Amino acid sequence: MEGNTVESLLQLQEIDGSIGERQNRVRTLRAESDQLVAELETLEKETIALKARLESVEADLRHAERTVQAGRATLKRLQARAQEVHNMREHAAARAEVDAARQNLEAAEDELLDAMQDQETARSALADLEGDIASRRDEYSDRLGELDAERQRLEEEIAIDLDRRSNKALRIDERARTLYDTVRGGRADNALAPLVEGVCGHCYTAIPLQTQQVIRAGRVLVVCETCGVILHTSE
Ligand SMILES: [Zn+2]
Repeated sequence: MEGNTVESLLQLQEIDGSIGERQNRVRTLRAESDQLVAELETLEKETIALKARLESVEADLRHAERTVQAGRATLKRLQARAQEVHNMREHAAARAEVDAARQNLEAAEDELLDAMQDQETARSALADLEGDIASRRDEYSDRLGELDAERQRLEEEIAIDLDRRSNKALRIDERARTLYDTVRGGRADNALAPLVEGVCGHCYTAIPLQTQQVIRAGRVLVVCETCGVILHTSE
């Protein structure tokens, strides 16, 4: 093993650390963008539901208006006919019909008022929601732009780092590189740790003296038997 293998692996580790940090940041930015977009989509769906509700309320309103008009016509016709009765019996019958028609009309007018109230409620809810969407869209579009720009910048930096990494990796002994990748692949943190006063700098397990000597000699790479990191004595 060449003497500078550990140095090169440490440089690789530094690049990997920087790539990892930027990738985490990209994920955080993406999550924030997704969250804002999802909020707007939820509001859009609520708008669609409210528009459908308004349409149905307006259909009820038109129906109630027709019922009231028909009720008024019926009442007028029956009132006119009640003027032309010839005796008490006919008078009583006509009167009962007029009363029934009046009751029907009153019920229809109540329904019309309810429908007008429903329409007013649905209209104002829709206006509120549309105002809310418009202001949030303004508010979020700036933030979405910032998130996008920052993500792009990070992705460019990651691309540069990946390039640096592959150049660096090419110049490292293949077995050392494979060991590094294997160790790193199984963990979230660093693949290398220093030997610190006879213990593993990652898990603090005591390393046997003989193994310490092998690590200091620097001819082969040694992994900690407890946590699996590659141990080194470089500063
Ligand atoms: Zn260890």
